[in-house]
This record gives sequence, structure tokens and C-alpha cells, in this order.
Amino acid sequence: MSVKYEKITCKSVLGKFGVLRTRFWTSYSFDPYEKCELNCVYCNMCAKGYGESQNHSVPVNVKLDAPQALAGELAWLKRKGVLRMGVWSDPYQPAEKKFRITKQILEILEEHEFPFAIGTKSDLILRDLDLLSEASRKFHCVVALSFSTLDEKLGKLLEPNAPSPKRRLEVVRRLSEAGITTGIWLAPIFPYWTDSEEEIGRTVEAAIENGANFVLGAVYDNRNPILFKKFLEEHFTQFAQEYERMYAKDRPCHYPDDEFYLHGLAKKFISQCQKKGVERFLPHFSTRKQAWLFYVRNFSKFEGSPFVGLTQLLNYLSPSQEILQTVRIRLGNHGTSKAFLKAFGYFPH
Ligand code: SF4
Repeated sequence: MSVKYEKITCKSVLGKFGVLRTRFWTSYSFDPYEKCELNCVYCNMCAKGYGESQNHSVPVNVKLDAPQALAGELAWLKRKGVLRMGVWSDPYQPAEKKFRITKQILEILEEHEFPFAIGTKSDLILRDLDLLSEASRKFHCVVALSFSTLDEKLGKLLEPNAPSPKRRLEVVRRLSEAGITTGIWLAPIFPYWTDSEEEIGRTVEAAIENGANFVLGAVYDNRNPILFKKFLEEHFTQFAQEYERMYAKDRPCHYPDDEFYLHGLAKKFISQCQKKGVERFLPHFSTRKQAWLFYVRNFSKFEGSPFVGLTQLLNYLSPSQEILQTVRIRLGNHGTSKAFLKAFGYFPH
């Protein structure tokens, strides 16, 4: 089915997106396109944008005037932050070939030396290799390629319109060789079929071999239960009931209702990252205790300047809102939490 595009008005790129409200610890978040053509079966955006029917005849909305809006905002902005692109849709989905909005935004960010973080599955990002490389020489920017599996067949089932996992690894290598801080997002990790120690280890190893600087992990969150149930019944009948049991309760962010499982998964992920020599990694945190323990135990691993190292990573691409929730819950209110985070350098820019 050919995708329809519809132009929508965009008044602001650097909208109100406080650090305390984001899962990525970035100051700003923007998606040049609404809805996503890559069409992954587990996509949160499908739940949000297409509804349960996943009716892709709904057009992809294109924010054509975003670059002008950004240029106007930057002319007045007093304090820099980090702009994250690729939260609810892929900034390098096929629409970008035609409209080049992501590229125009990056050009403006580079001109202003405004830090950014990109999350994508697409090899179209290589079109902007020179731009990203040049930006990396001058200021902080980071790219994460996301992987749910290295299995080509399974990848095709889960992410029908995305480049193959093999191709994505090539992208990691090319970006990394060009001096761009590049990592992978091992997400979503699916209970029962992609969560074995061996499978996690294989992906982590492949990422490191291809020059990844960091690895982040996150378990599957079931935000699109009806659509995903259909998928399971069609392709993985044997797991359908287990998923129903595991995701029965409507937990924050729709994570599995099984602390024992989540704890085990975090342990596997950490152990594989350590075994494969990954210096910077963040597992999926599901409890406050896990997040705190990870902090305490791992500060020293972030080369010489632990706070700064960890801070940069967290600021750009933390997979977990729980850390921030932890701080917020412990300290009681947003004002105090913000002051706490500031005191520890969580707002470096
Ligand atoms: S690439 Fe991301 S936003 Fe696009 S369909 Fe896949 S999961 Fe959704």
C-alpha cells in the first residue's frame, strides 16, 4: 500500500519537554514525522497513532515548516539542552528521503552547536554521515540504532519495513568509524523468545565488534495489546497465554507484572555486557532498588569522571524512566528533585 503524506503546521521544535517528564533525560524532544512507515508490530506509535486496527491508510503527518520554527526558536534561546529525535516515530523513515526535514533540522543544530541525540532503525542516516561527523567534532551528539533481534527472519516479521539487523550493524560501524558516538538500543527484549543469555550476548557482541560505544536495554512494553496479541496468535501461539499472564496488570509503561522475571533479565543483560567488555551500558530498571544498586555499583566504571560519563549517557539515551522516578519519589517533589539532579551535574549543557 502506498503511503500518503499530509502536511501539518509546526509552531515549535523546542517545545515544553522538561527533563523530569522524559524517559530519555533530554531537554527537548521532537519528531519531524507523526506516525511511522517502518511498521514494527510492537510499535507504541501504532497504538497511539494508528489505533488497534493498525490502519496504515492513515497518512503520515509531515512537519514541513519545522526547520523554520527551529531557526526562529534558536535565535532567542538562552540556554542549550539536548534535542532528542526518534521518540514516537523514526526520523529517518522513508518520508525523510522525500522531505528531508530531519536533515534540515540537523543542519540548523550544527550551525548553533546545539547537542542532539538520534534514535533510528534506518540506514538512511548514512546519507547525513558527513554532517553528523562534523557535528561530532564540535559538540555532543549521539546516535543509537535499535535492535530487537539479530535473526534476519524474525527481524522481517517484527520490523517488516526496517533495514535488516545485518544492515543496521553496518550502519553502527560506519557511524562509529566516522567518529560519531554510536550505540545500540537492545529493545524491545521479548520475554521467552529473545531474552536468553546467549541471544542477548550475541547482539551485544555484534554491536561491540561493529564499534558501538554503549548498549542500552529495555524489555517489551505492551502498549498495543490487541494488535500484539493478534501477532502472537498468528506466529507464536505457544507464547500467547504466557504474555497474557505476564502483562495482565496495567503497570506503569505497560511492563511485565513479574519482578522476579525483570530482575533476572537485568542480571543477564548486565552479565553479558560485562563479559563482552562493554564499558557503558544501562539495563532496564524495573524497581527502585535495581536502579539505586546499579548506580552505586557502577559509578566507578565510567572512566575517570564517573558522574560526567554516566551523566552524558543518561542525558542522552537512558532507557529508563524509573531512575528519575526514583529520585522524584525519594525526594518528594519536583523542585527538590530538580535541584538534586542539578547538583550532581545532570544538566551539563
Ligand atoms: S521504527 Fe520505531 S516508531 Fe517506527 S514503527 Fe518501528 S518502533 Fe514504531
